Amino acid sequence: TTFKQADFPENILKRLKEKEFEKPSPIQAQTWPMVMSGNDLVGVARTGSGKTLSFLLPAIVHIKAQRQLEKGDGPIAIVLAPTRELAVQISEIAEEFFKTCDLKTACLYGGAARGPQIQLLRRGTHLIVATPGRLIDLIEADETNMNRVTYLVLDEADRMLDMGFEPQIRSIVEKIREDRQTCLWSATWPKEVQKLASELTNNSIRVNV
Ligand code: AMP
Repeated sequence: TTFKQADFPENILKRLKEKEFEKPSPIQAQTWPMVMSGNDLVGVARTGSGKTLSFLLPAIVHIKAQRQLEKGDGPIAIVLAPTRELAVQISEIAEEFFKTCDLKTACLYGGAARGPQIQLLRRGTHLIVATPGRLIDLIEADETNMNRVTYLVLDEADRMLDMGFEPQIRSIVEKIREDRQTCLWSATWPKEVQKLASELTNNSIRVNV
């Protein structure tokens, strides 16, 4: 399997080359075709498998198919993560690839000033990477909305449940249209995650790595 087969924009292929990534990781090779053809995905995998790009690069293709961003527009893609550290880490990788395609990203997390995050939202953004609490906070403050979201990722879903984020996750998902595409990732596969996955995804394909 090669990166070319995944049908990414030229700028993405160029960036992957610059990073000296030779070929897709097994998880990427397995999930890109499914996600790029619009399927919901439930992935059980640990960090270090290359799962971040497995959901971020298809997000770029998804977003590029939509209309141009206008000032004040809400995002098209959302990534929810359990901790500030993980959100920042995902967002840094996202920014690196999104920038090459002129797409904008914003990272929202608690325990930090709201001002700079609000500035990013007012500029308009294609992607939000967020911890659940701060995202709800800024939706309630009317600084962003879920009206245009059609691509949702839950990363480390098991950890989000362990941390008690289930009500926040549900409240966010309720605001997103039902015909969205959803990818849920988890390191473990306990009953609670299975239940969440079956409720939030539609005809999803499950991948274990
Ligand atoms: P992740 O599991 O997403 O945290 O990725 C783990 C590490 O693998 C990160 O340092 C990535 O930069 C790297 N990585 C992701 N995809 C590839 C790839 N196709 N080839 C080589 N390294 C990769």
